[in-house]
Formats: sequence, C-alpha cells, structure tokens
Amino acid sequence: MKKSVVSVLVFCFISLSKFSWAAPAVQTKEVLKQIYQEKVTGFQYYSAYAEAAARGSEPVFSTLFETLAEAELVQAAECLKLLEDYGESMPEPVHATIHVAVVENNLEKLLAMEELLINQRYSAWMRKIREERQPEPLTIVTRIWRVDKQRYLLLQQMRTMMSGHSYAKIREFALCQVCGYTTFYVPKRFCPVCYQSPSYFLLHTVENSSSGKEHSQESDEPSFGTFTLN
Ligand SMILES: [Zn+2]
Repeated sequence: MKKSVVSVLVFCFISLSKFSWAAPAVQTKEVLKQIYQEKVTGFQYYSAYAEAAARGSEPVFSTLFETLAEAELVQAAECLKLLEDYGESMPEPVHATIHVAVVENNLEKLLAMEELLINQRYSAWMRKIREERQPEPLTIVTRIWRVDKQRYLLLQQMRTMMSGHSYAKIREFALCQVCGYTTFYVPKRFCPVCYQSPSYFLLHTVENSSSGKEHSQESDEPSFGTFTLN
C-alpha cells in the first residue's frame, strides 16, 4: 500500500516536472520574434549608416557600421534557429524608416538604440524566458545581450575617438561569426563572449588603410583599450 502511494507521488512529480519543462513556451517564442525583429531593424540601420558614411568619405565608420550590420545578422540567425527548433517559421521582417544624418548624429542614434535595448528590454525578455524555463533560449539570449553590451562599449569608444580625431588610425574591425562580438582586433586565444577560437573571426579592413602590414593583435596597440564584460 505504502509502496503504491510512493509510486503515485513519484509519477505525479515526474509528470509535473515534465509538464513545466515541456511548456508551450508561448512567451519565449514571442521574445525570440521580438529580438529577431530588433536585429533585422539593427541591420537596416547599420547598413544605411554604412552607406552614408561611405558617401561622406568616412571609411572607418563605413567599415564599422558594415561590420556591425553583419553582426546583427549573426544574432538574427541565432534567434531564427531557436524559432525553427520550436517549429516556427521566419517572422515577416518589418522595414524601418531610417532618417540618415551626418556620421556624428547617426552614431548618437545608434548609441541611444543600443542603450534602450541593453538597459531595458533584455531584462524583461529574460524574465519571460526564465518563467517558462527554456534553457537553450536562456543561454543564447544571455549571450546576445552580452554581445550587445560590448557593441555599446565599442560605439562609445568610437564616439570618444571621434571627438579626439584619433579614429583615423583604425585599420580593421574583427567580427566573431559565431556570436557577433565585434572588436578592433582578433583575440589571441578565444572570443571573450562565446569562447570559440580566433579562426571564427572575420576581418573587415578599412578600405583606404595602409596595406602590407600584419593584422593587429589585441596587445599590439593597447591605446585602443579593451572591453570589460558586465
Ligand atoms: Zn564569439
């Protein structure tokens, strides 16, 4: 008798835990669609601003924005992969209306957009995913958030360099094709966000930069500084 009561309790426990882990993940799917849309919008902004910077003879900023547009696509693909795992099809992307100004103003606009995302939207998104206990989206969205924080710091550094006109010496930007982390150099040992090897980094070279030199490594020109993860 006792044994059967225990069996029933164990059965109920297993069923309940199964139920909570196999939840329909309605909120999580919605969050992934929203992040996907943010990434597509980000791609549209960075691409438009890259073109404007090229037209305005700002090759460093043109290359930076081009690289970050590609980073947004890497992250959009991560969201899409998770949505596909849930059996969802690709959300219909919304086309943003983008006002293009001079590079300083465009940079300010991007800083404001990234700040809003990292300081407000991710915390709400993460809470929803946690409520539904979806481990993989939790890991990936946490990573996307970390990459966006790094991007914000990179844009801040570019703003500082712009005011001191010291950005002209930048010759390239390095993009991790696994997570979208973007920096001035290919890290020596691994990506600080996704821990993949430097071989996953793609270099975007500033078009009019001096050629024939070796790629810069993270310790060669410490004046650009390094990022600190939050
Ligand atoms: Zn990475």
